[in-house]
Amino acid sequence: MTVYFIGAGPGAADLLTLRAARLVSRCGTCLYAGSIVPSEVLATSPATARVVNTARMPLGDIIAEIRDADDRGDDVARLHSGDPSVYSAVAEQIQALGAEGIRWEIVPGVPAFAAAAAGLGVELTVPHVSQSVILTRVDGRATPMPAGEDLPSVCSSGATAVIHLAAAQTPRVVRELTPVYGADCPVAVVGFATRPDEVTVRGTLADIADLVAASGITRTAVIIVGRVLDRVGGDRTLRSFLYSDDRPRDADGRTMRGPGAAAPAGDPVPAPPAAGGAPHSARRPAQTPPAPRPPQAPPSPSDGRDGPGRILILGGTNEARQLADLMETAGLDVVTSLAGRVSRPRLPRGEVRIGGFGGPEGLAHWLRQNDVSAVIDATHPFAETISDSAARAAGHTGVPLLRLHRRPWSPQPDDEWIRVPDMAAAAEAVRERFRRPMLTVGRQGLAAFAGDTRGSYLIRCVEPPTGALPHRYLLVLDRGPFGVDSERALMSRHRIDALVTKNSGGEATEAKLEAARELRIPVVMVDRPQAPPAETVHTVDDAARWLVERFGSRQ
Ligand code: NAP
Repeated sequence: MTVYFIGAGPGAADLLTLRAARLVSRCGTCLYAGSIVPSEVLATSPATARVVNTARMPLGDIIAEIRDADDRGDDVARLHSGDPSVYSAVAEQIQALGAEGIRWEIVPGVPAFAAAAAGLGVELTVPHVSQSVILTRVDGRATPMPAGEDLPSVCSSGATAVIHLAAAQTPRVVRELTPVYGADCPVAVVGFATRPDEVTVRGTLADIADLVAASGITRTAVIIVGRVLDRVGGDRTLRSFLYSDDRPRDADGRTMRGPGAAAPAGDPVPAPPAAGGAPHSARRPAQTPPAPRPPQAPPSPSDGRDGPGRILILGGTNEARQLADLMETAGLDVVTSLAGRVSRPRLPRGEVRIGGFGGPEGLAHWLRQNDVSAVIDATHPFAETISDSAARAAGHTGVPLLRLHRRPWSPQPDDEWIRVPDMAAAAEAVRERFRRPMLTVGRQGLAAFAGDTRGSYLIRCVEPPTGALPHRYLLVLDRGPFGVDSERALMSRHRIDALVTKNSGGEATEAKLEAARELRIPVVMVDRPQAPPAETVHTVDDAARWLVERFGSRQ
C-alpha cells in the first residue's frame, strides 16, 4: 500500500499531471484537502472509492483514514492544492507515516505562483531585473513565521517576491515592503488562479491595498511584488543568456560566458523625472538597445553634408519614442520634450526635457534659443493645446513643422460604434444607455463621468486618477500593450456592456476594439479634435523619410 501525496494544482482540473490523473483514477481511497481541489478531479476516482474531505480533520484522524485504507488494501491518493513542496503540511504527514511504516511518494503539481505568473503573462526572473523568486507568506492564525523571516528581512534583496496567504493583509504587506521596493514598485494580486472566477488586480505598492479591497479578494490569492511586472520594460530588448543570438557560442552552439560575451541590456527601469515637475534634461545610459531601422535611415551629420542641426520631438507617444530612438541611433541631435504628466514615463533615447514651454510664445523662444531646425509634433492626437502651440510657434519662427499622428481607427463590419464629439457627450451616452461601462479614456477624461450614481464602472488607466469619479467603480491600473484574449476576459468577467474610448488609433490598445467586436459590445468612440493645419504623416517611417527629404540621407 502506498500513499501518494499529489499536487492537484491551482484549481483548473486540466492542470493535473498525467501521473496524478492516473493515480486518482485507480486509488481506492482519495483524501483531499479542501475546496480548491477541483471536483472534476475527484469525480475521476473509481466509483467504489472512499473520497474524504480532510480540510477540517486533525492529523490523527487523517492518519486513521490512511490506516483504514491500508486495512482495506487501498492505495491512497492524497490530494493537496498547488504543489506539495510548499505550504502543504505534507512534512508532518510524512513523519507520521514513517512512524507507522507506511510507504509514501510525492507527485508534484503546478504551484499557485506559477499559475498566477501564467495568468499575468510574465516571467518572474527577467534577465537583469530579478533572477530570484522569494516564496514566502505572512504569519496567520495557524503558523507563526520563524524568527528572521519577517517580510522586510526575507525580501531585503529586492528580488521578485511571491507572498502567499496574505490577501487579507495587503495593507500590512504594503507597509512592510514599501521601504524595500519603493512605492512605485508594481504589484499584482491574483485570486483563484486558473479557475473560472480568477481575479487579477494590478497596481503599485502605493495603491494596491485599495484596489484589492475594492476587488473583494480576501483569500486563495498570491501577491507578486517586483520590477519584473513593470511594463515599462516591455519595449526593452531583454536578453536571456540562453536564447540571445549575439552571445558567443562554442563549437556545439552552446552559449558561453567570458570575453566577448555581450554586456547586460540597458538599465532595467528608466530614471523617473525630477521631483516637482520642473523642466530638466536627462540622458539615458548609453546601453539602451538600438531601435529597428526604417527602410531609409534618417540623415546623419557624418554624410559629408551639413547635418540637420537640432530636432525637437514633442513626445508622449510610442511613435515619438521610436522616432527619437531611430534618430539617436543615426547620430542626430535630437531632444524629446515630455509634458511630465506621468510619474514613470517611458523615456526615449537621446536628450529628454520635461515640462511645459509656457504657451506658443514660450515654445517659439525655446526653438530660437536652442537653434532648432525642425519640430516634429509626435504628441497624442488628443493633446490639442500643445499641437496648437507647435503650429503657432513654427509659424512665428519659420522652423519647419511635421505632425506625426497615428491613423485613427475606423469601424469594422461587426462594430457598433456610437460616435461622439467629446467626453461630455460620451458620458451622456453612457448615462442614457449603459450600466456597466469600461472607461479607457485616460485620467483626464474621467471628470466627465464624475458623480454618476447609476452605472458600475470599470476604469482602466495608467496612473491613479486624482479627480472626482463615478460613485461605483473598480479601478484597474495597467499600461498597454494589451492582448485580445486578456481584453476579452476582462470585459466578460466584469460583464461590460459598453466600451468607452478616445479614437487614439495605434496597435498598442487596439485589442480592446477587437474584443468588444467579438463580444458584440457597443463602443462609445470619442472623435479626435480638429488639429491645426500642418504637414502630417502617420508612421515613424514616413517621419524619417520627411527628414531625409529635407536634410538628405547618408545612403
Ligand atoms: P495638452 O492639453 O495638449 O497640453 C497641455 C500643456 O501641457 C501644454 O500647453 C504644454 O504646456 C504642456 N505639454 C503638453 N505636451 C507637452 C510636451 N510634449 N512637451 C512639453 N510640454 C507639453 O496635452 P495633454 O493632452 O495634457 O497631454 C500631455 C502629454 O501627454 C502630451 O505630451 C501627449 O502627447 C501625452 N499624451 C496625451 C494623451 C491624451 O489623451 N491627451 C494620451 C497619451 C499621451 P505649455 O503650454 O506650458 O507649453
